[in-house]
Amino acid sequence: MEAAEPTDRASRAWHRMITAGARRTLARVMVIDVLAGTAGHLSIGTIHHAIAAIRPEVNLSTVHRTIAFLVGLGVAHVLQRPGEALYGLNERPHIHAVCETCGTHTEIPTDALAPAMTAAQKAVQHEVDFEVGTAGLALFGRCRKCAAQHP
Ligand SMILES: [Zn+2]
Ligand SMILES: [Zn+2]
Repeated sequence: MEAAEPTDRASRAWHRMITAGARRTLARVMVIDVLAGTAGHLSIGTIHHAIAAIRPEVNLSTVHRTIAFLVGLGVAHVLQRPGEALYGLNERPHIHAVCETCGTHTEIPTDALAPAMTAAQKAVQHEVDFEVGTAGLALFGRCRKCAAQHP
């Protein structure tokens, strides 16, 4: 079976992957298609579930390996948060606001924070000689709902 016609998000992810010299494999096609088909972030279990419905031969450990590969390649990123880690494509730069109490998260477009991010990255580089990337970057705190419940 051929994968569905790639969406724009999938095409951009593919382009980044091919440019990095990675081969096209069934698992990579499926994982990118599933991630491109959601506006947000997905857990490994959810990604595997969606793939297994179409291609049961792609098992959970293959999905784990494929995700790790795509994260290492800069095609996808991991969102660490209370509970399961989530994964998303890197095609639209953003950082995450994660609620430490309930685990919900919101995406913040990096444009909105560009001047502050640049200043923070420079300060970190200066203080501890460390280059901060923005893929998967998360700001932890409390969402409005949790802040209202526990003032
Ligand atoms: Zn993200
Ligand atoms: Zn919350």
